[in-house]
Amino acid sequence: MRDFYNRDISYLRISLTDRCNFRCLYCMPQEGIDKCSHNDIMTLEEVEEIVRQAAKFGIKKIRLTGGEPLVRKGIVDFCRNISAIPGIEEITLTTNGGLFTSYGRSLKEAGLSRVNFSLDTLDPEKFRKITRGGRLEDTLAAIDLALDLGLKVKINSVLIGGFNDHEIKDLVDLTKDQDIQVRFIELMKIGQTLDWDDSAFVSNKLVLEKLPSLEKLQVEGVAQTYRLPGYQGTIGLISPISSCFCQDCNRIRLTADGKLKPCLHSDTEINLRGLKGQDLEEALAKGIFNKPEKHNLDQGPSHSHRFMNTIGG
Ligand code: SAM
Ligand code: SF4
Repeated sequence: MRDFYNRDISYLRISLTDRCNFRCLYCMPQEGIDKCSHNDIMTLEEVEEIVRQAAKFGIKKIRLTGGEPLVRKGIVDFCRNISAIPGIEEITLTTNGGLFTSYGRSLKEAGLSRVNFSLDTLDPEKFRKITRGGRLEDTLAAIDLALDLGLKVKINSVLIGGFNDHEIKDLVDLTKDQDIQVRFIELMKIGQTLDWDDSAFVSNKLVLEKLPSLEKLQVEGVAQTYRLPGYQGTIGLISPISSCFCQDCNRIRLTADGKLKPCLHSDTEINLRGLKGQDLEEALAKGIFNKPEKHNLDQGPSHSHRFMNTIGG
């Protein structure tokens, strides 16, 4: 279905849980947030029904995210069920990788085709610090397994001034001998980062300055892609602040507590929980049609009052 601005909305990102086995400094407070109580979280049957209706409106691609989607019990059966829904062409996952080696094979069998792993540093101690306790070796093993399984792999690295901006070349070198895409994402001012110093928010232009030999390729979704000559994989720059991509945004989001978010950075949310049949169809259609034209991140902090772990990125 097209929205008011004639964008073809075909991509639904589902936060399956607000819980996480990590506590990344830029995403969640150490103590967690007021977690949704068990009753506030949608059942997987409810989410499946929403996907079924959304597919009728032209949603073709689903991303399972979180919090950490792999802490949600029943994710494999859920993946199998939604991959069988007519119209759904692709199921993808965004994960920190910590639990992936236990689920990767079954998820692939259940219809998963692509995985984005979050990986901001290749230094084990810094990885432990930024994730507040995660182990780099687990995420690297997860990436190896995904590649062995034949899944398409992308790596999401949030660039943080003074933390990993000198690791750009090391992260890019992951694409030397592997057909993967390393995506640099600009740090966004939302939730946990609202009071962070401006110096942490670096522009993706830094990647181009550090690697002038990057060759420009095509635009893929919200990423401008590049390749270093002779490298197998590619680089993606996702630059919500320095290069707004809202005019090409084809995505809507569903939170774990059943709210449709037509834009990540807007405070507009439409409750879908408890709706069935025509009521659900009308709410979905209204949400898609009224998707905001653009976000405000170039002007200041996000207008969304959520923490990122409750939206899913
Ligand atoms: N737990 C999973 C993971 O880390 O991949 C999925 C959920 S996480 C919220 C999704 C993505 O959002 C991750 O790639 C993470 O790095 C990114 N993210 C979280 N907070 C962010 C922020 N303030 N700015 C930019 N990206 C952020
Ligand atoms: Fe968890 Fe992902 Fe947020 Fe890190 S970025 S705290 S792994 S939800």
